[in-house]
Amino acid sequence: MKKIVIIGAGIAGLSTYHALRKYVTPQNPSLQIVIYESHPSPSVTTSLIGGGLGLAPNGFRALNAIAPGAVKFIEERGFECKEFVMRNQKGKKLGSMRHWEGGTKVGENGERGFGMVMVARGDVHWSLLKEEDGEKVEDVVRWGKRVKEIREEEDRVEVVFEDGEIEICDLVIGADGAWSKCREAIFGEEYQPKYDGLTGVGGFLPLNSISPRLQEGLKEEAVTMTFSRSGFFGYSMCTNPSAPSEDQYLQWWSTYEAKTPLSKDAPLQEVRAQLLNRHGMWKSPYDTPGSSQLDVFPQIINLACSQAQKAQKDDMPGVERSKWLILPRFMTPRLPHWTSLYGKSNKGSEEPGYGRIILVGDARNTMPPDSGQGVSCAVEDVLAVALLLKHLSKPQLGGTETTEDEKKMDTDTLKKVAKAYEDIRLPRVGKILDDAQRRGEGKKDLGFFGEKIRDTALFIVSSLPTSIFAGTYTYDVEKEVDGYLAKQEWRW
Ligand SMILES: Cc1cc2nc3c(=O)[nH]c(=O)nc-3n(C[C@H](O)[C@H](O)[C@H](O)COP(=O)(O)OP(=O)(O)OC[C@H]3O[C@@H](n4cnc5c(N)ncnc54)[C@H](O)[C@@H]3O)c2cc1C
Repeated sequence: MKKIVIIGAGIAGLSTYHALRKYVTPQNPSLQIVIYESHPSPSVTTSLIGGGLGLAPNGFRALNAIAPGAVKFIEERGFECKEFVMRNQKGKKLGSMRHWEGGTKVGENGERGFGMVMVARGDVHWSLLKEEDGEKVEDVVRWGKRVKEIREEEDRVEVVFEDGEIEICDLVIGADGAWSKCREAIFGEEYQPKYDGLTGVGGFLPLNSISPRLQEGLKEEAVTMTFSRSGFFGYSMCTNPSAPSEDQYLQWWSTYEAKTPLSKDAPLQEVRAQLLNRHGMWKSPYDTPGSSQLDVFPQIINLACSQAQKAQKDDMPGVERSKWLILPRFMTPRLPHWTSLYGKSNKGSEEPGYGRIILVGDARNTMPPDSGQGVSCAVEDVLAVALLLKHLSKPQLGGTETTEDEKKMDTDTLKKVAKAYEDIRLPRVGKILDDAQRRGEGKKDLGFFGEKIRDTALFIVSSLPTSIFAGTYTYDVEKEVDGYLAKQEWRW
């Protein structure tokens, strides 16, 4: 194999680059790895993806295998939380989801434990763009190159760009997100993302801009998720408590059912009015005592709106923390498979492709935010692909031209990689999607009984030992790949 092209320099695409460099380049030093990204520069990309998210222990474990420097960067900036507290709109605690129990991180397994970290998406992106092992990944990406079409042949893939350039390579890794052209190359127009009826609005606030009572509350209860019959509102710390106070931020997000998705450019005052109408009368134990007005939810919404109006840029490179993001949720239907090895419909049908296009991250399936696993599962995918390429390809040395023998070997290898990737990853991500779907239902408009059922489910889940859920966090890609390959005859 001489050239692998990665489409998309989001979190999945950049992780792919690090993973291939670490696991595949050493046995194939002449391998060229190129990343193409449609955004014109890294600062535009990071500011567009500048919301907050949770990075879970399983995601950290996979990222640590790929790029330990990125893990250090994120841990230094993010906020490690021990539990999520769930409340209703009257301020009553419904339960909690613990990430620590008895002084140990859930899923620690006697090995290096990783926490659940709330962090700005831009920080995760930057952690992968910066210099690692003397190489600045930012300079490797070919920015401003939008893919128009991808054509797979038996012995190569052609990537056609909107500017007319054509790139020929051995393998394409599609990390081009929800509206993936790589997915279109396999399935055509089928499986396009659809609005799922929920809209999210969210952003950041400097910690020192919120009331002293709420600041105190965040020390006791760092992540609060509030559910009602008509929407959801979450807020949490998202920066390291050891950072100087002026660099500390709270992240907030509202999710609610809306028949028509709110426009990304909706006027600020209109969005503010909608948010206040929905959450403005909700109670919190951290409302200022003695005040005649409820102030946690209205203050977050009002401060966020006036901050967005000023639209002052944060001093962190590329991340605009003063704006809010409006994110109508466009989700892909579940794909029957994630590579070009099989036909448009089902795995097990004839093999019309060659496995030279592999989808990772949101390109293979968008992950609903309710999963809290979008980034974590994307990094798991990428590590699985790199390990499979490492274990299933024969070392290749020197030369820029692919010989006929190598071509034959690549064709065979890539089919095995594609099959193994799907066998290992589809069931894992499928289970996480099932759980997320159940959680998403609880954020839609509910009737009286729907609310009672949701609250009872939250109570029951909170009462169970956390070890029941630890499987999501203890998942170890390296062990899964080793276990899978041990059962196959075709490991080199
Ligand atoms: C509101 C919200 C909250 C979320 N919360 C969480 C959370 O709590 N935890 C979590 O782990 N995840 C969360 N996620 C999901 C997470 O952000 C993604 O799953 C994750 O970043 C993986 O993204 P990706 O790299 O696959 O795709 P993307 O980030 O979409 O990157 C794709 C890249 O490909 C580029 N591209 C697209 N088309 C082309 C083309 N034709 N040619 C060239 N380049 C192209 C894009 O410009 C982009 O840079 C959340 C997502 C949303 C929307």
